[in-house]
Amino acid sequence: MSKIPMNTIVEMDGDEMTRILWKMIKDELLSPFVELNTEYYDLGLPKRDETNDQITVDAANAIKKYHVGVKCATITPNAQRVEEYKLKDMWKSPNGTIRAILDGTVFRAPILTASVKPYVKGWVKPITIARHAYGDIYKATEYRVPGKGKAELLFTGENGETFRKTIYDFECAGVLQGQYNKDSSIESFAHACFGYALDTKQDLWFATKDTISKQYDQTFKLIFADIFEKEYKARFEKAGIEYFYTLIDDAVARVIRSEGGFIWACKNYDGDVMSDMVSTAFGSLAMMTSVLISPEGDYEFEAAHGTITQHYYKYLKGEQTSSNPIATIFAWSGALRRRGELDENSPLCGFADKLEKACLDTIESGVMTGDLTVLCDRKDVRKASSTEFIAAIRNKLQDMM
Ligand code: NAP
Ligand code: MG
Repeated sequence: MSKIPMNTIVEMDGDEMTRILWKMIKDELLSPFVELNTEYYDLGLPKRDETNDQITVDAANAIKKYHVGVKCATITPNAQRVEEYKLKDMWKSPNGTIRAILDGTVFRAPILTASVKPYVKGWVKPITIARHAYGDIYKATEYRVPGKGKAELLFTGENGETFRKTIYDFECAGVLQGQYNKDSSIESFAHACFGYALDTKQDLWFATKDTISKQYDQTFKLIFADIFEKEYKARFEKAGIEYFYTLIDDAVARVIRSEGGFIWACKNYDGDVMSDMVSTAFGSLAMMTSVLISPEGDYEFEAAHGTITQHYYKYLKGEQTSSNPIATIFAWSGALRRRGELDENSPLCGFADKLEKACLDTIESGVMTGDLTVLCDRKDVRKASSTEFIAAIRNKLQDMM
């Protein structure tokens, strides 16, 4: 059998257990079938430290060049990691760096299977979270206030005009944070959400805390309303879908009571937190896909979960782990499909479909990782190690090719 040719995509390797899974996926599920063509960036923590994190910036710029990237989970260092890896600096979150360069919106959707039942019984359709991937606390400036003193918000305009307001007269030590966002980024977030809703024919919900944040969150609300009114209202009506704005508190309650089947647009932090909640409630963090879509139409695919540190420590002791590779495999299939769509390479798109089907068929056949067996109400399931699970997927895939 000849391998499927493809144009270049950007490959970003990562850390710990997901780095181990990454290699297994490439060796067992991709390289035997596809003439893998990637520009490789090692975003593993040692390499980021060695390059003063330049490698992350280079990878993000490469995505702008090739328009498609796939990323493995990476460690975001904290004080403990600085010690563990003897780092020169507490490098920023690679995802944060990439998102800041590409701008755009992250769409996260659960992978549903018949055997794995959501914790929330009413959810019968997927809930896609659209996370604004720019600014707010991820680009905030913070200050640990040492003691008594006055904190002010100061803006100096181009023409020298200033805005100044007291934030707080500190009578003791405390903390201070300044965050920002840009109209242009909020506008592209809105366009990405409205566009994705039309593409996938799903309602769009958006929620912020505009009752409390009368300038900041209100700006998000107004920009969405304005863009919807001017550019999308008629198209939504024609497609039979709705745009709906509400307070974040109200949205949370409605989401739980819903049956799913819509896109929930969230500000950066809300999206970070809510996507973990939604994916866990759908079953497993390891069954959540994630794609960053930039305003220019560049796509970066990844899994929503982290590097599965606890499993990695077991792996280092020589133990078999049952880490779920599904979301990472779907990151690859998503990237290959997008590459195929851009280049009208239908064999590559077909391969991506088959790879995903092989994963779901394997689960439905009763072979799955430990995170899924506990969610399954069937009796005929077998907990497989990552190696066994990937081998079972490969068998199914081989039969299909
Ligand atoms: P995590 O890696 O997502 O793992 C948390 C727990 O969730 C695991 O211990 C495991 O539970 C379960 N889990 C997650 N993914 C799984 C999978 N594929 N298969 C089976 N179980 C899975 O989160 P974390 O432990 O908080 O973070 C670890 C590192 O990842 C941190 O250094 C963090 O900075 C990084 N991180 C990276 C990204 C990213 O690159 N996108 C995102 C989040 C976190 P059990 O132990 O109970 O089996
Ligand atoms: Mg998170």
